[in-house]
Amino acid sequence: MNYRGRFAPTPTGHLHFGSLVAAVGSWLCAHDARGQWLVRIEDTDPPREVAGSAASILAALPAFGLVADEPALFQSTRLGAYAAILEQLRGSDWLFPCWCSRSDLARGDGLHRDSHCVAPPQPNHPPAWRLRVPDQVIEFEDALQGMQRQNLRDEVGDFVLCRADGLYSYQLACVVDDAAQGITDVVRGLDLIDSTARQIWLQRCLGLPTPRYLHLPLALGDDGHKLSKSNQAFPIDPTDPTPALRRALTFLQLPLPDAACGVSELLQHALAHFDPANLPHCSGHSVA
Ligand code: GLU
Repeated sequence: MNYRGRFAPTPTGHLHFGSLVAAVGSWLCAHDARGQWLVRIEDTDPPREVAGSAASILAALPAFGLVADEPALFQSTRLGAYAAILEQLRGSDWLFPCWCSRSDLARGDGLHRDSHCVAPPQPNHPPAWRLRVPDQVIEFEDALQGMQRQNLRDEVGDFVLCRADGLYSYQLACVVDDAAQGITDVVRGLDLIDSTARQIWLQRCLGLPTPRYLHLPLALGDDGHKLSKSNQAFPIDPTDPTPALRRALTFLQLPLPDAACGVSELLQHALAHFDPANLPHCSGHSVA
């Protein structure tokens, strides 16, 4: 098997149109490559989670014809693996404890650099754990957006892997689980392209392979902002899935069959015409 893709929603609300586009796009890429498609629930931040939304997303996906090849992985079951990885990094030069708050950093340019803390250690308070980044350009070729380059030191700074409250960051959990699940291809929304260099740096620190990346354009609302669970835009109805699925396929510039048909036929028709190189690559367009 040389292709394993995934859809990795955060359970902060029901499946919405923007995440349906990411799910359909990653499903099509995986099936086009005759690979496997997995679903991972990124529930590492209980305070942000909306009760019932993981179950609602997992129930909605098959209603849209998107059936995973393995049972969903819940990141809340993976805390031991994240702790072990942090421990592994503690033995390196790259991980360091940090008590700097956002406002401490805001007094400079907001970035944490060269593992230089502005706040002193506070022995009675647990630290956050940050990963030092190199003064070096990280490059990757995005399958849709082309060559990407980011100097993490100049543009991002040392970033948090584990917060002071003990919650693991998205970057850490995502890198550890992409590797543990043998993900070869990450297909996700363009809003996450800015995380990719950080993830590649963390993979290098851990000696993990770097998957291929493809970032899909974002579905924007009339106001030009990304559709998200929080703005409740374009509610989609898993009990009547074809209208939203047709719209998601149209957004991805895939043809629809003439006749009215169900979700499986819609997906198979799209797959028959699918070429990842023909996906729209613009930074986002309105679905209205
Ligand atoms: N959990 C992220 C989200 O819902 C996606 C993470 C990823 O695909 O890497 O936006």
